[in-house]
Amino acid sequence: MYIVPEREIAGLLTRADAYRAVESVFASMARKSAYNFPVIREAIGHADALYGFKSGFDRDALTLGLKSGGYWPGNAAHGIPNHQSTVMLFDADTGRITAVIGGNLLTALRTAAASSVSIRHLARKDAKVLGMVGAGHQSTFQLRAALEQRPFEKVVAWNRNADKLAALATVAEEAGLPFDSVSPEALGAQADVIITIASASEPLLMKDWIKPGTHLACMGTDTKGKQEVDSALVAAARCFSDEIAQSTTIGECQHAVADGSIGPTDIVEIGAVINGADEGRRSDREITLFDGTGVGLQDLAVAASVLERAVERGVAVSVDF
Ligand code: NAD
Repeated sequence: MYIVPEREIAGLLTRADAYRAVESVFASMARKSAYNFPVIREAIGHADALYGFKSGFDRDALTLGLKSGGYWPGNAAHGIPNHQSTVMLFDADTGRITAVIGGNLLTALRTAAASSVSIRHLARKDAKVLGMVGAGHQSTFQLRAALEQRPFEKVVAWNRNADKLAALATVAEEAGLPFDSVSPEALGAQADVIITIASASEPLLMKDWIKPGTHLACMGTDTKGKQEVDSALVAAARCFSDEIAQSTTIGECQHAVADGSIGPTDIVEIGAVINGADEGRRSDREITLFDGTGVGLQDLAVAASVLERAVERGVAVSVDF
């Protein structure tokens, strides 16, 4: 088996690689060639940690494995990231372990790739202003990936603490784009594409603030009880997700489903749009919303791509196991 250490990941996976891997596995999911197993997530009663597994199998790519991951809120005080992820891949023919791969940077890259896939397939072609809600660890990855999908001319952003917006401003500046720190209302009034990547449990954006034709990629809500947008906005939008079962239970759509304003059949798998089985956006005035809940198959897809390259370049550590 191989070990690919976390420190090697940055040199092994480009944003374009992550995009290709995630788009392809979403397409496989919609063809029913790939499926995610039930997610395990537990508060372990130690160090205030949340710990769990996301796993699945892609029969087309023969990618089988799991991501073990969790959140240790006290880690930052020891100089290590609060989120900790490790991917394990197994041989689909024999069940033998093939690799253990650092999963921290992979998580950020595969999450940014998911919103980026949604922007490519669902945003209006003439989108000019990109709005960012949230300015934590994931946000700069999200912004960099999104900027590659449309010729955006401006970035507007809101975060609960405006002083955290500096990192997003730097990314916009590097891309040669003007950047404004704005209120959520002003963000909705200007943005053609909005990415929400905060960690909130109440709506940060209301339906009446959003322009017709906007595409929203809602990425922060990945747990029961979290919420970033008004459920009336979800109900007004044409909704897409990575996986409908997660979307209705732990994703942004959970609230609109719970209050009865939408049902699971109102949500389209993004893979169906990629495969051409669904038309996607139907008009320039339609609001489209991608509920990116984060599925194990995304992790496995990017990890498989990293493993291949790590072996090619001789940076995978071979272990007799
Ligand atoms: P982070 O802790 O680094 O940043 C959190 C952000 O949310 C900050 O901008 C913070 O100011 C803001 N925030 C916190 N509480 C808030 C509140 N009550 N109201 C408004 N804003 C609030 O986290 P991160 O690593 O950047 O992750 C952001 C979110 O994305 C988290 O909720 C995380 O669970 C989620 N996430 C989703 C996926 C996925 O695949 N969908 C993957 C990774 C992370």
